[in-house]
Amino acid sequence: MVNLSRTALRGFAGVAAAAFLAGSALPNASAAGTVGTADPVIPALQQPTVAAITLPAEAPPPGTGLTTKSSATNVVQYNRIYKSPPITPSKCREVNVSLRTAAGVQAYASKLWTCLYAAWAVPLKAGGFAYKVKPKLVVHTSSSVATYCGTVANPTGLYCSARGGTIYIPASQIIAQWKQNPTMARAWLSQMVGHEYGHHIQNMTGIMAASYQRRYAFSTNAAKLEESRRLELQASCFSAAYLGADKRYYPMSGGLMTAFNYLVTHMGDQPGHARDHGAPKNHAFWSTMGFNAKHTYTVAGNCNTYRASSAYVA
Ligand SMILES: [Zn+2]
Repeated sequence: MVNLSRTALRGFAGVAAAAFLAGSALPNASAAGTVGTADPVIPALQQPTVAAITLPAEAPPPGTGLTTKSSATNVVQYNRIYKSPPITPSKCREVNVSLRTAAGVQAYASKLWTCLYAAWAVPLKAGGFAYKVKPKLVVHTSSSVATYCGTVANPTGLYCSARGGTIYIPASQIIAQWKQNPTMARAWLSQMVGHEYGHHIQNMTGIMAASYQRRYAFSTNAAKLEESRRLELQASCFSAAYLGADKRYYPMSGGLMTAFNYLVTHMGDQPGHARDHGAPKNHAFWSTMGFNAKHTYTVAGNCNTYRASSAYVA
């Protein structure tokens, strides 16, 4: 099962554009059991891009597989990760480096990636999940990136779940943002790495595969899109949850916090474009839920988008 979805989201600089194309097979698609997902891009940095989803040949036709759908629903709604202990603060600090170069983006993202791995290991282990699977991190400047999930043109942040998972970070987009607003570039890169790592958590917990099963089982495009939004909003919630847990150390304060709040409030589906990531107000809602989650018993439990009513995942 190979899937790639990709959406460029514009709205950050008052421009909105996104493109979404479902059902176009990627020639290099392979590796059964693989799912991938790609993410919001801050605008004004990219041309509107084409999104692609590969529908695996073995995917059940829409509306079938009710037994699978039922069990998949249990996985996404009552996952053990929701009752696991809070994410412990990694006590990792933000790397003080210019993001003007790919090397800078690499240094910044690598540290965060390692810290995410350590912090998420606690709730993963407690939930009985594989917690020593560190996804690979690829920071690239390519206009096309070949992944085990297929080849993606003009890639945004991307996660491919094959072979333990790989996170792809498009350095050129961060570099371009840095030239406009360095603080926003830091916030964006932090959010992006955390969001893709959130997809890794979904992969390790079975949520991603179960969500894709549900998506295929739903018969309407509207239901499929809502399922996509639940997955994406949860990944952003997980991203914010890590940063919230570590806020004293990173630190998430001052201008960086302001930029982060602006970012999460403006990311999301834009009018006239694919409704696959969630409206900005809901992106803000779930990001806030994640960021403040340490005040409750669990962290991941605050990110259960799969039991939220449709209005919260619109
Ligand atoms: Zn995503």
